Amino acid sequence: MANTEHVANGAGPVGGTGTAGGTAGTGSAGTDLAEIGVIGGSGFYSFLDDVTEIQIDTPYGPPSDSLFLGEIAGRRVAFLPRHGRGHHLPPHRINYRANLWALRSVGARQVLGPCAVGGLRPEYGPGTLLVPDQLVDRTKSRTQTYFDGLPLPGGAVPNVVHVSLADPYCPVGREAALDAARGRDWEPVDGGALVVIEGPRFSTRAESLWHQAQGWSVVGMTGHPEAVLARELELCYSTLTLVTDLDAGAETGEGVSHEEVLRVFAANVDRLRGVLFDAVAALPPNGSRDCLCAKALGGMDPGFELP
Ligand SMILES: [Zn+2]
Repeated sequence: MANTEHVANGAGPVGGTGTAGGTAGTGSAGTDLAEIGVIGGSGFYSFLDDVTEIQIDTPYGPPSDSLFLGEIAGRRVAFLPRHGRGHHLPPHRINYRANLWALRSVGARQVLGPCAVGGLRPEYGPGTLLVPDQLVDRTKSRTQTYFDGLPLPGGAVPNVVHVSLADPYCPVGREAALDAARGRDWEPVDGGALVVIEGPRFSTRAESLWHQAQGWSVVGMTGHPEAVLARELELCYSTLTLVTDLDAGAETGEGVSHEEVLRVFAANVDRLRGVLFDAVAALPPNGSRDCLCAKALGGMDPGFELP
């Protein structure tokens, strides 16, 4: 880690001189510190040669950790360890609003959020890479909107805004992820529903069988509310899920163990990183975004300035 800088407030432009590339949407131009955000573990950036660590404050408090700025194939990327360094934040304690806000405040308009999941079908065993196209929210305690009517520290009051989440993932980001996996001979599963549970416990067998019976594909604890918060900030968001275990209802043994999850993740992190980097390199310039995400607010006034 080379430098550490502190950026005082993610609610407005924070240093930097350029713009974020003429992106769609409202609010300040942000900065040009990053084009793309990656929310994932430290395994994705810790080996990069030149990484700058910056601390960001947001109106919602601090994100999970510092942002780590680095470059992949000439693209400026902000990495954010979802669980904090040392993995101290359980999924239900993650400040998802601060995380997405922080990424946008440094200029990121496209976000990839890889996560580990359990497979809900026997054919989706450990090592399967699945790029979901649907999301089911089974969380319980997480704030999942910026439009909650509560004033921000600066006094702005969010309006009542309802964004569409019919298609929760950016189609462009999904294609980049799928192509990147195929390019590394890791045939991905294209589509399926990610059901996000509250955690931190794993599912009971009955819950898992119910998830399977609904036709859902994989189960995780962190994909929500990232997708909806990204949409509310007009960010492109997509996820790559790595199956680390068969969920309780899809196997016949003792059920999921944390050790098993960690072991399978460690065995696949190198190639997942490769896929992720190729996907980052393939994303379009922020200024040319033409997907639904970039116009999610449809010109509606959010009541506050987007970072
Ligand atoms: Zn998009």
